[in-house]
Amino acid sequence: MTSAPAYLDHNATTPAKPAVIAAVTAALGCVGNPSSVHRFGRCARRTVEVAREQVAALVGAAPSQVVFTASATEANNLALHGLGSAASRRILVSGIEHDSIIAAADEATRIAATADGLIDLAALERDLARDERPALVALMLANNETGAIQPVAEAARIARAHGALLLCDAAQAVGKIAVDIGALGCDALTVSAHKFGGPQGAAALVLAGDPPLASLIRGGGQERGRRAGTENVPAIAGFGVAAKLAAEDLPRMAALAAQRDRLEAAVRRVAPGAEIFAAAAERLPNTSCLSMPGVASETQIMALDLAGVAVSAGSACSSGKVRASRVLTAMGVPLAVANTAIRVSLGWTTGAADIDRFIESWTALWTRLGNSRAAVPAA
Ligand code: PLP
Repeated sequence: MTSAPAYLDHNATTPAKPAVIAAVTAALGCVGNPSSVHRFGRCARRTVEVAREQVAALVGAAPSQVVFTASATEANNLALHGLGSAASRRILVSGIEHDSIIAAADEATRIAATADGLIDLAALERDLARDERPALVALMLANNETGAIQPVAEAARIARAHGALLLCDAAQAVGKIAVDIGALGCDALTVSAHKFGGPQGAAALVLAGDPPLASLIRGGGQERGRRAGTENVPAIAGFGVAAKLAAEDLPRMAALAAQRDRLEAAVRRVAPGAEIFAAAAERLPNTSCLSMPGVASETQIMALDLAGVAVSAGSACSSGKVRASRVLTAMGVPLAVANTAIRVSLGWTTGAADIDRFIESWTALWTRLGNSRAAVPAA
């Protein structure tokens, strides 16, 4: 096969859009620190503030609610440790959160997930009722592995009824589905530029209203004292342009969902035992988490890479051993099955030829390895 490799790992990072590259390049060519009062500084400040308006508009917020950070990981840490006098709050997180939540709140109570890949709202309600101390709940809008869209508005209502705050990590949802901070009812929302055509190195914590937020990083008054350090002006400029384009591109997501559905239908046809995780839930239009029975995730990823198809594991690899995905095990997926999962994620560069290439390569691998040997490491 000689065509260009198929990049199907958009949930890891999306290729930057051409207008984003142009904006980053233009900003790199301008001198000036946004905190300087002279004309050069004022020009850099304008670049940052235009981007702030663009990012705010994408999620239905006012520009003053946007705090720029370097990554969604940083934004999640900032919220967990700084939001609403966080030191005195107990933290509850769904069991399917991204590591930037789970690892940043290692003493948090984990709320169970259902087999469909959704937070168990009854369990959340029970836990909040059990202990009425002030709490902060973290619930993502869309899961990075399965794409399952979480009932954030309902969770926010439950949290509010118990006097708790809600942080919504929308890093995977923004740019793929319409997101409105007011409709979600959360207290803070995490957004990451490189998940929707922007550059790496720019993200934001978007606040609902003006809750107290203690800066994690000290040393300067940037971001109204909420995040010290000179702003990454080129990345923020690209973030703004990506936000504007993302809003314009949302209607194209239906076509992407059709390609994703075609891929899943082919997998089911080729290997009827293959599982599509969280298929019963409402999902992002671009994400599929699926298993190849009996073939380890790592084996699939390497073989698909050799065939020119880039996907990622539903499991993490550490010290040479495949660990099953925490998300899938939280959904009750047996370890031996979770160890055979891969994540395929489509995006703005994906065309029908990429899906054809995946189907052809996945089918060839299944024919070669599927059924014939169990490449799954012992549980
Ligand atoms: N939250 C979710 C749901 C994610 O999927 C990711 C990245 O994959 C992050 C947070 C971290 O994003 P960043 O790479 O901007 O730190």
